[in-house]
Amino acid sequence: MKQMGKKGLLLVFTGNGKGKTTAALGMAFRALGHGQRVAVIQFIKGSWKYGELESAKCFPGRLDFHVMGRGFTWNSDNMDKDIALARQAWTFARTTIAEGKHDLVILDELTYLISYAMIDEDEILAGLAARPESMHVVVTGRGAGKGLIAAADLVTEMREIKHPYHDGVKAQKGIEY
Ligand code: ATP
Ligand code: MG
Repeated sequence: MKQMGKKGLLLVFTGNGKGKTTAALGMAFRALGHGQRVAVIQFIKGSWKYGELESAKCFPGRLDFHVMGRGFTWNSDNMDKDIALARQAWTFARTTIAEGKHDLVILDELTYLISYAMIDEDEILAGLAARPESMHVVVTGRGAGKGLIAAADLVTEMREIKHPYHDGVKAQKGIEY
């Protein structure tokens, strides 16, 4: 097989099992260890006080962490407002990619913008494809569609075998948030 130099990959972590966001954050931790610059952009997050947001402060100037999702969901009673917020968040992500200041850009829970038809899939695919040649992009979220899977270099599906939620265990600090 022909050997290639550094190639910016599109990696997708999808599926219903737990571990998509934490796998992406693990990759960020790894890249930071090599002195690389990382951007994490989170779409559609809940109201937990996520530990990762605090940890991000340990890497000033190298880890840019943005939570764009607060305030919009896919079942709100003001869909127009939510679509506008989703569009704003996507525009920010697309600009971050195009600027090329990072070695790794993580778009956490981006799949929902496509699956809830908030942003056109083609537009997202075009933004991802326009990344600089050496930039890696990670997309996480359940239900990655055919277009995203076809565009990706690596796709991992997290499959649930067991989850403590089914035994009535609620979300815990350090595990879920
Ligand atoms: P994590 O952020 O822990 O890596 P994830 O990104 O794979 O998880 P999401 O699909 O983003 O998971 O879901 C967010 C939260 O929902 C996670 O905290 C996860 O533990 C929880 N979760 C995953 N599977 C289930 C399930 N079957 N029932 C209830 N909660 C679940
Ligand atoms: Mg997640």
